[in-house]
Amino acid sequence: MTSNQELFDTARELMPGGVNSPVRAFGSVGGTPSFMVSAEGPYLTDAEGTQYVDLVGSWGPALLGHKHPAVIAAVHAAVDQGLGFGTSHPSEARLAELVRGRVPGAEMIRMVSTGTEATMTAIRLARGVTGRNIVVKFAGCYHGHSDGLLAAAGSGVATLGLPGSAGVTEAQASETIVVEYNDRPALEAVFAEHGERIAAVITEATPANMGVVAPEEGFNAFIREITQRHGALMIFDEVMTGFRITEAGYWGASGRVEGWEPDLFTFGKVIGGGLPAAALAGRREIMEHLAPTGPVYHAGTLSGNPVAMAAGVATLENATAEVYAHVDEKAQLVSEALTAALDDAGVDHTVQKVGSLFSVAFGTSATGVHNYAHAQAQEAFRYGPFFHAMLDAGVYLPPSVFEAWFLSSAHDDAAIGRILDALPAAAKAAADA
Ligand code: PMP
Repeated sequence: MTSNQELFDTARELMPGGVNSPVRAFGSVGGTPSFMVSAEGPYLTDAEGTQYVDLVGSWGPALLGHKHPAVIAAVHAAVDQGLGFGTSHPSEARLAELVRGRVPGAEMIRMVSTGTEATMTAIRLARGVTGRNIVVKFAGCYHGHSDGLLAAAGSGVATLGLPGSAGVTEAQASETIVVEYNDRPALEAVFAEHGERIAAVITEATPANMGVVAPEEGFNAFIREITQRHGALMIFDEVMTGFRITEAGYWGASGRVEGWEPDLFTFGKVIGGGLPAAALAGRREIMEHLAPTGPVYHAGTLSGNPVAMAAGVATLENATAEVYAHVDEKAQLVSEALTAALDDAGVDHTVQKVGSLFSVAFGTSATGVHNYAHAQAQEAFRYGPFFHAMLDAGVYLPPSVFEAWFLSSAHDDAAIGRILDALPAAAKAAADA
């Protein structure tokens, strides 16, 4: 058997940091990463045969747990028909129909392969439609790694403590304006000064890449109102939240309950069911600006790949109200147990939770976590010991305090029990840090 340490040594030699995506590295928590070799239901198994309860869920796609029988069967059936045709095929429209059926305002859909591509294309489309250049984003929100969206980004950029990324030109950076999240006066001021040059405001429906941060009541509706007032588009990034957070029967985190819709949505993760599929969607008159019906170019050799579409269709078809009720209930249970364990250990913290997405922030009870400044000011050093105590007890958490915890419909009582059992020792480790 090859050990995790040997695999890590080989990986580090061949790939920067030993990873193909920085969020997988153990940089901020320390130690040797576990190299996973299989996944089933709520569990991951590493190269040494150790089994973990998984709270990463492939960073979001695994809403139904790993290897859901219906998803695996659909993928096998698709593979048997060929891996890709480079032509149109029926299951693209089937997935598009499922998205449209659940998302008011998603009249037309363009499939892409990653969330990064979805937001990048949405930005190009917004610029093409409005003829304006500037994009407004919020500090701590992550929208993938396209150049213009890396300023003050969350996720791995936050974990590594970077202000942005080297390699982004000043010209690109100057076309992105960053505003503190939940700060209405700041957004007003930016529109007062640059209103006629703003193509779009892009926001996570509920930020979950600086830890989870809830939009203050009416904040998303305010973005809708101010963009409309100034002729800019609102891009609602639901790569993380789409088909995971439910509100009033709507499978996403949009403001349907408040009676408004964004101009464009981006989706990823759950809609690909674990394979590379993502999408942008919106009103017909906007989406038809995309090539070949319009002048805004977007293309992709693997866009709408039939195997990925099959995984997405099977996932959405099985993402029933019962699935969401289960995931919501278990998230409530685990987040309450997390708070109780940390309270018992005397660790100042807040648990940030929106729907079934939650995360912990240490030393933040005085302010709460309403924006990136709050998230950055936390006692992040407590997370490494907490993370490793959970790992030692067989629970795999995201290896960064800035990431959300993901549950699935496969997290049964046995898996949840293991998480709850592990929390007191981890809380003590956080207290002793
Ligand atoms: N938007 C959001 C809100 C995300 O959380 C992510 C990824 N975590 C992305 C975009 C980028 O998606 P991808 O990693 O598939 O490029």
